[in-house]
Amino acid sequence: MKRVHNARHMTEAHLVRGLLESHGIDAVVRGDLLTGGWGELPVDVCAVWVTDDARYADADRLIRDFLKGALARIHGGAGWHCSRCGEDIEGQFTACWQCGAERPPSPE
Ligand SMILES: [Zn+2]
Repeated sequence: MKRVHNARHMTEAHLVRGLLESHGIDAVVRGDLLTGGWGELPVDVCAVWVTDDARYADADRLIRDFLKGALARIHGGAGWHCSRCGEDIEGQFTACWQCGAERPPSPE
């Protein structure tokens, strides 16, 4: 059993697991509670594990390719730049998490 991917949220973890299984690699999603430093709340982490260590390299390569392409599309493509406050926003957000400004229409 080897951890191949740390996901930002459950949806991503299950997406990655589905990808691996569609390529014949058995995988499981596990939630972990990581305790932070002094006075910090525990952080919820979800990770994808391959059950067969021999498939780790295959899984790792699949996930890298997947994250570069498909996941970027699912999350709405490249990140964008808030014109109001100048914050860099990840592609999946439709509004600025810093100041709440709406995502500007894409140039194309
Ligand atoms: Zn902003």
